[in-house]
Amino acid sequence: MSRPARVQLSAAALRHNLARVRSYAPASRVMAVVKANGYGHGLEWAAQVLSGADAFGVTSLDEAIALRRAGVTGPVCLLEGAFRREELAEIAAHRLAAVVHHDRQVEQLERLSGGTPVDVWLKIDTGMHRIGFDSGRAGEAFRRLRACRGVGSLGLLSHFARADNPLDDATVLQIRQFQAFAAAVGGERSIANSAGIVAWPESRMEWVRPGIMLYGASPVIGQPAGAYGLEPVMTLHSEVIAVNRWRRGDAIGYGGDWRCPQDMPVGVVAIGYGDGYPRHAPSGTPVLVNGRRVPLIGRVSMDMITVDLRTQPDTRVGDPAVLWGQGLPVEEIAAHAGTISYELLCHVAPRVMRVAPPEG
Ligand SMILES: *Cc1c(COP(=O)(O)O)cnc(C)c1O
Repeated sequence: MSRPARVQLSAAALRHNLARVRSYAPASRVMAVVKANGYGHGLEWAAQVLSGADAFGVTSLDEAIALRRAGVTGPVCLLEGAFRREELAEIAAHRLAAVVHHDRQVEQLERLSGGTPVDVWLKIDTGMHRIGFDSGRAGEAFRRLRACRGVGSLGLLSHFARADNPLDDATVLQIRQFQAFAAAVGGERSIANSAGIVAWPESRMEWVRPGIMLYGASPVIGQPAGAYGLEPVMTLHSEVIAVNRWRRGDAIGYGGDWRCPQDMPVGVVAIGYGDGYPRHAPSGTPVLVNGRRVPLIGRVSMDMITVDLRTQPDTRVGDPAVLWGQGLPVEEIAAHAGTISYELLCHVAPRVMRVAPPEG
């Protein structure tokens, strides 16, 4: 047994969340987004559990090839396309689909001299203003790609900037702009990320691209994941490795900026920023010890955090602690730490062992 820090991964929850996607978008095909090592859950593991998806979305050739090596034979899409011309041969050889968001990528495909055609998703910028062709220039890119011998199927793809806020009309404008362009050229369409799937029904179209909701975190600001029937896939847990009694006025941890307001028990949990627990989680961030909430106190160290055990004075060394997941939504911890669930999930360190949850 090494460190008690563990990530428990529930395949049942991951499959359940895919079923939730299907029930929100029954007429759409599902491109399950497994980039960033399956949002920190493990690329191959996520793809294997999500074998019922219609396609996978990744952001590097390495990830795509890893999926092929793991036995994924269906469509795999590179969401940022090729970064270099030399990648195109491998993209074709592995029968990968590629997003095209830039003139240079169009030119690279035009220079392909035969071989297996590459399925392409033309990326339209409808308001995110990050990558993609604005609707003024997308028509020309579409025609050029259509004329390429190296291009197989040609779909249309766009991405939301603010769909996580159901009150923000920018999403309506993005959908309208995308629809207008698609109506003019035809082809399969995909714009909905998780937030689109649950909060913007008219965005579902032929393909949806869920990421965060598959992993059981809420895609909508201010709404718990349970509101969408999602279950957490990852539970980050560890153990209490010390319980100490300190005196009123004693300072706890680095910097000494948290002082005991009275004589009190303080627990130490074996988790820290070296495991991916956010260093910016402030005092007051909840931690589940023996299934009950206690507040984090003092600074997060590389390998340890300290918790206020005044409400749980019977806590003992070896007792279980949950940092997020089952019973403690990851988005709640993210809000305390000034970040988003995506970042916390992606940042779980390789040293944290991945295990299956106990049966039952
Ligand atoms: C990451 C990503 C998604 C998934 O977004 P979620 O908010 O996690 O559902 C969908 N499409 C593209 C292009 C992405 O990069």
